[in-house]
Amino acid sequence: MSLTAEDRAKSELKGAVRLHREGGPPRRTLREELRLEGTGIHSGAECSVRLFPRETGGIGFRHAGRDAEVPARLESARADLSERRTVIESVAGGRFEQVEHLLAALAAAGVSDLLVEQEGPEVPFLGGGAREFLEGIRDAGTADLEETLPVLEVVRPLTLSEGHALIAAMPHKGLRLSAFVEFPGTVVGSAGYSADLEDENVFFEEISKARTFAAAADIEKLRAAGLIRGGNLENAVVFDHERYHNESLHYPDEVVRHKIIDLLGDLSLLGTALRGHFWAWRGGHRSHVLFARRLQEESGTAS
Ligand SMILES: [Zn+2]
Repeated sequence: MSLTAEDRAKSELKGAVRLHREGGPPRRTLREELRLEGTGIHSGAECSVRLFPRETGGIGFRHAGRDAEVPARLESARADLSERRTVIESVAGGRFEQVEHLLAALAAAGVSDLLVEQEGPEVPFLGGGAREFLEGIRDAGTADLEETLPVLEVVRPLTLSEGHALIAAMPHKGLRLSAFVEFPGTVVGSAGYSADLEDENVFFEEISKARTFAAAADIEKLRAAGLIRGGNLENAVVFDHERYHNESLHYPDEVVRHKIIDLLGDLSLLGTALRGHFWAWRGGHRSHVLFARRLQEESGTAS
């Protein structure tokens, strides 16, 4: 069969991404149930999550005392609400906020299937990064399942610009994430960070302790919007034009490393393993979610 010029043009435009149903890593769950509790960053309320192992069904969130669950998948993501945190919701299951750091830890550990039961208004913030989630996952242990995870592979460059953000994906033999931030006139300035995440230890050691951050000038505005009531200098990096307000940082470039956590957590909403170099310049949760939707469309699996 010969392709017409029009067909050829279409195939060049589409298909920056290929989905492999076979040959991926094993699906994985926890060996034991795990409970984590702490303050919610935005509400300031006491919150907890219990993570129940399961063999199928992907990652789902359920409010304690409710039956319906919300899949941690793009179809549940509210891009419009995902400004300072990632929000997923469904009519039956309700809303879940601040899911991204837990999702990043699960993705880094290769965990694909479990039920998260939440008490309180959001996922506990713990240390402000993904480290405590990963430690809990390591303590509980993981168990490989029989099924394998589909693999989303980037085969051609793809970009998306949204507001001030530019997000891109390009072919790469493993999984590489890069983030770039720009806070001109502040101590953070311009910074970039890249990491190959094939090895879970890289994420654990080099990235997982990177905390959420805020510019000191934005703090009153965020509080007035009902956000960051549980934020403090232990769980968040705060900076201004000349200094960090924290006594010390977990990494010298902690702010940009935190963006890797956010990007990994948000891309995990695809529900696949990832092969490619994903790249976020001035990214945020909304642009990450919109980009993940583009990837899903390109793979031909958008619902
Ligand atoms: Zn974050």
